[in-house]
Amino acid sequence: MLETCKICWESSAVNGLITPCDCTGTMKFVHAACLTNWMFLKDNDTCEVCKATIQFTLPLHRDIKLVLICMWLYIFTILCVPCVYFKHHWEVWG
Ligand SMILES: [Zn+2]
Ligand SMILES: [Zn+2]
Repeated sequence: MLETCKICWESSAVNGLITPCDCTGTMKFVHAACLTNWMFLKDNDTCEVCKATIQFTLPLHRDIKLVLICMWLYIFTILCVPCVYFKHHWEVWG
């Protein structure tokens, strides 16, 4: 049995599709990959059709946020720690 993904409109076997929200009928199926892209682009976890919260975790999205936070902490450490350190020493010597 084939059903249509409501994001990319491609037909797929039902076992390749997920039903993450309260939509019914032929509009309830999506590919996990399509849903991941959609949620990432829209930054939204509410279905625009049924207004239900989409029951799908977005590990990629969370990882990117975590990586960005780590990157900023890393940059902050690299840039600011030596500045504070040398400023302190210059004040002592000056
Ligand atoms: Zn799809
Ligand atoms: Zn829905």
